[in-house]
Amino acid sequence: MCAGRLSVCATPIGNLGDVTLRVVDTLRDADLIAAEDTRITRRLLARYGIETPLEAYHAHNLERRTPALVARMSDGVHVALVSDAGTPGISDPGAHLVDACLEAGIAVEVLPGPSAIVTALVASGLPTHAFYFGGFLPRKAGERRTRLESLASLDATLIFYESPRRTPATLASLAEALPGRRAAMARELTKIHEEVLRGPIDSLVAGVEGRTLKGEVVLLVGPPDRGSARAIADPAAIRERLSVLESAGVSRSAAVRQVAGEQGVARNDVYRIAHEPDDRGGSPATSA
Ligand code: SAM
Repeated sequence: MCAGRLSVCATPIGNLGDVTLRVVDTLRDADLIAAEDTRITRRLLARYGIETPLEAYHAHNLERRTPALVARMSDGVHVALVSDAGTPGISDPGAHLVDACLEAGIAVEVLPGPSAIVTALVASGLPTHAFYFGGFLPRKAGERRTRLESLASLDATLIFYESPRRTPATLASLAEALPGRRAAMARELTKIHEEVLRGPIDSLVAGVEGRTLKGEVVLLVGPPDRGSARAIADPAAIRERLSVLESAGVSRSAAVRQVAGEQGVARNDVYRIAHEPDDRGGSPATSA
């Protein structure tokens, strides 16, 4: 193994005080800092009086820069990697450099610290026994719906990164695919204008309506509740709910989508249950 190495350094997601002592020492001792946005990293370095040379490493130059950085580490250079905010490798180009280093036999050490995922999860008050991080959801509404439907039955809190501009549309998609769930929107975490909205997903949709959101946002949706999980073992309850919705004029496909989201059951399973005769020998749920 060569003497050069990569130190993956987590940096604050807002409050510059949230950097670890070990990261400060490493940024100071490294030969070079590869930074996603050198202007942002300069502010952190200025706060701690660090003068290590900075080079840009981001989505638009990583194809070119990765082999050059790997070659320098192979020659014994110690590179510290930082992203705009939080832990490099999480929804940013860091994972690419880590992969290339491991491939080349270069030592990689990870210095843990802030990440918006964990900060938002704990702040949300939603269940933490299991969580699913989905990065950024697809921008096209149809693809978003398909992705969310595939996640509806997971017994885990769902976490997504989002831009403030797209947040209202994404919340509306979440409310449509996962109706009735508890949810949260965490904005500007650790910063002066930190805001965490918590409540049923529909109330969040209403809560952002007409607002121009600024800053950075994490969206979270709780798992299907335990009562619903019990209903999975009770096809009669699913048929009953479908029947109530269809009697109220909801179309079969919309009712299936709603029941699947409410109860955390795959849509195919709801369709199958709807078409099976019930245990008491009754007929399948009628189609609207
Ligand atoms: N690597 C980073 C991490 O560990 O959290 C995430 C990088 S990703 C490109 C940037 C996204 O993280 C933002 O669009 C936003 O969804 C989320 N994020 C970062 N900082 C945040 C903050 N202070 N408050 C809320 N969300 C934040």
